[in-house]
Amino acid sequence: MSKKHNFSAGPCILPQEVFEKSAAAILDFNGIGLSLLEISHRSKDFVPVMDEARAIVKRLMKLGDDYEVIYVGGGASLQFLMVPFNLMKSENGKAAYVNTGTWAAGAIKEAKKLGTVDVVGSSKEENYSFIPKGYKIGNEYDYFHCTSNNTIYGTQMRSFPEVDTLMVCDMSSDIFSRVIDFSKFDIIYAGAQKNMGPAGVTMVVVKKSVLGKTGRDIPSYLDYSLHIAKDSMFNTPPVFPVYATLLTLQHLENNGGIEAAENRNEAKAKLLYDEIDRNPLFETFCVKEDRSLMNACFKLLDDSKKDEFDAAWKAAGINGLNGHRSIGGYRASMYNALPIESVQVLVDVMKNIN
Ligand code: PMP
Repeated sequence: MSKKHNFSAGPCILPQEVFEKSAAAILDFNGIGLSLLEISHRSKDFVPVMDEARAIVKRLMKLGDDYEVIYVGGGASLQFLMVPFNLMKSENGKAAYVNTGTWAAGAIKEAKKLGTVDVVGSSKEENYSFIPKGYKIGNEYDYFHCTSNNTIYGTQMRSFPEVDTLMVCDMSSDIFSRVIDFSKFDIIYAGAQKNMGPAGVTMVVVKKSVLGKTGRDIPSYLDYSLHIAKDSMFNTPPVFPVYATLLTLQHLENNGGIEAAENRNEAKAKLLYDEIDRNPLFETFCVKEDRSLMNACFKLLDDSKKDEFDAAWKAAGINGLNGHRSIGGYRASMYNALPIESVQVLVDVMKNIN
């Protein structure tokens, strides 16, 4: 069976080595005569997995002891609620959000349940085709929340604003894809199922000093402090996703870290966007300056070529190129594990449609 060129938006391609090692661990974990799936999360074989999965994130992000890393369930969607529970003051709580897409809007919706939300910038009326900029965030806000990469619309924040309050970012779809000063952020969260690992676990990076200041009685599972105090073992963690995440991050670390991944991702994105710009048949949904290096969302301008194009990319062994059902068109997700050879295959297909 030959491997497909997998442009899926998430869950998505992971390094082949991760598939092989995690499959082996399901059969016999570390040669102990037991599957990873049948041992206690508190066993001497699993605890080091969780400890290292937390430690490696801080090494890759170059963060110090003022930060903690936790793994929880519930997807990035649960973080839409955990963030305000942990940061929004119980009395007159107020937060600033920028609305850059469906996921950002989801985060806004949950935060509104706990306090006042000011949407300081939005591109909703223009189909989320750009990243709003130029807003000022003062210290009247408990925190500012943004989404670094908008998976559905193919836009990405190329830079982050200076804010006079805590900074929170949903990095689900571009975590570990580019060099960022992570120490600018107070909370970073990401569902694992793009650049980090399989679906089923969410990583949260928390600056410890920001916790415990809301005056809220936070439900236990939603309280970051509790997950930190219990080393991400407050309840049974999703052991397999955490293990596969560790393998993915080890693969990243052994292949030049975030810096090298960024170089590879820039080369892949350039290859594809150059073809989109050259080829009169294709156009991105968003403005050029806010194009995502991770998800290139584009449309075919001549409808009569649709059947030919769809048949051609499928015949070339490409998977997962359809756009999100809410906007249609095409979406080429070029996460860390996607080789540039796969992008070249897509570009060759695009070149041959005429
Ligand atoms: N934020 C972003 C940027 C996403 O792309 C997604 C979906 N993949 C989510 C949040 C929601 O994540 P989850 O399905 O893990 O709740």
